[in-house]
Amino acid sequence: MDSLENINKDVINCEKCDLYKERMNPVLGAGSSKAKIMFVGEAPGVSEDRSGVPFCGKAGGILDELLGKADLRREDVYITNILKCRPPENRNPREYEINMCTSYLNRQIELIKPRVICCLGNFATAYIMKKFDLKDEIQGISKIHAKVFSVRSLFDSIKIVALYHPAVVTYNINMKPVLEKDFSILRNI
Ligand code: URA
Repeated sequence: MDSLENINKDVINCEKCDLYKERMNPVLGAGSSKAKIMFVGEAPGVSEDRSGVPFCGKAGGILDELLGKADLRREDVYITNILKCRPPENRNPREYEINMCTSYLNRQIELIKPRVICCLGNFATAYIMKKFDLKDEIQGISKIHAKVFSVRSLFDSIKIVALYHPAVVTYNINMKPVLEKDFSILRNI
């Protein structure tokens, strides 16, 4: 039977794409293995690469604040990323890297069985929506942020929520109230 420990071991030993060559630490996932709500980000940044902890840098500070708007704490949720290793210079994930890496995310989803998956930004939204047969509904995050999609998964009916990536607030402070409003809907789900 699979376990988070097994997944973590496999990620630590992973050499499926070149990102392992330049990373300091892979960034596995953090939070409760019994979480009903999972947040999926894009890829580790420089702080996450140093520490091995997801969303521990600037964007992470904003995510913590936004979780507060949803009456959630990090310990209540599970936080992970599409890519487990940092792309150099924080460039966008490449298709090949996403194809190679997402078996780990899929295993995390199968084990934790979240009832709600919150996708942070375009890459996470596109990947998760494709995975759950919502390909035809995919649009840019500015069009579908705060939309809730109900799908049936292998284990249950789940909700998928598209959200802006918290990092947008670091380059456009005017987006903060938009993200706060979007995260507040999680209270009702
Ligand atoms: N941005 C992400 O998408 N994930 C992290 O873990 C940190 C920043």
